[in-house]
Amino acid sequence: MTTIALPDLGAWPALGYIGNPLDRAAHRRGEAEALFEQRDARTYLLGGELVAARKIGEWLEPLFEPAHARDLGAGSPLFLGFSDGAPRFAARFDAGRREELEAGGLFVSDLRSIATGGLLPPEHLAAIACGKALNAWHGRHRFCSNCGNESNVIEGGWRRDCPSCGAQHFPRTDPVVIMLTAMGDRCLLGRQAHFAPGMWSALAGFVEPGETAEDAVRREILEESGLLVGRVSYHASQPWPFPMSLMIGCLAEALTDEIVVDKSELEDARWFTREEATLMLTRTHPQGLFTPPPIAIAHHLIRAFVTAG
Ligand SMILES: [Zn+2]
Repeated sequence: MTTIALPDLGAWPALGYIGNPLDRAAHRRGEAEALFEQRDARTYLLGGELVAARKIGEWLEPLFEPAHARDLGAGSPLFLGFSDGAPRFAARFDAGRREELEAGGLFVSDLRSIATGGLLPPEHLAAIACGKALNAWHGRHRFCSNCGNESNVIEGGWRRDCPSCGAQHFPRTDPVVIMLTAMGDRCLLGRQAHFAPGMWSALAGFVEPGETAEDAVRREILEESGLLVGRVSYHASQPWPFPMSLMIGCLAEALTDEIVVDKSELEDARWFTREEATLMLTRTHPQGLFTPPPIAIAHHLIRAFVTAG
């Protein structure tokens, strides 16, 4: 292949939703209601995928005073922890009220757009990701999965207790493996039908009961692309609040190179050279192909492959 001058990748970008600066202070969760009444308490306002913020000049301020949040119809606050001693919460608003909130002068957008656009500082994104995942869990776990009765929110939102059968339920995080498979100078990328045109990413899938992360990587790669994988190594992980996953980023070495795409899972999958992957990271690929943005761990896995060469 002709050698071409590849673009400089620049400084390693920051992964999104990591680096939550809050002290979770688990031992204070039982005091959440009283903490919400403190003068320095502030809350994020989250509605499903949406985040509300106040516009202050050119800036967005995602923290609201408790009284303001109540005026806006916010639900029970979930305790996220302390920021320099000040309690921080996430309270829910009805996503159907978006237009009403916007008409009232608030900025409202979905978390992915806010993160991709860099509209809020990373430390807010990480705390909001925590609140969003907790919020999503409560939204789907109102009733006891043991006996079917309505359960109560306690510990500031970090547990639900069933008054009927006594079962305790804890917020869950679903582990997902996301892996970049490589063979020599090529890496495997796939496309799901709902991706933006031109976007290719690392393959991913949920870890199933009874599996190690490495098992899940090998199974998902085999199922989706027909490739056999040998060595699997851990790269990094990322909270992924859509709705409440932990992405476990891995690098995998393929033992075979003949791809058989599972069309029920993927629109397509194919090998890309290191040069192509570099152009896709920098969005300079001649066919307009590109990777997920720097906030996503897939971007970091592809970059790790590209820079290892
Ligand atoms: Zn129960």
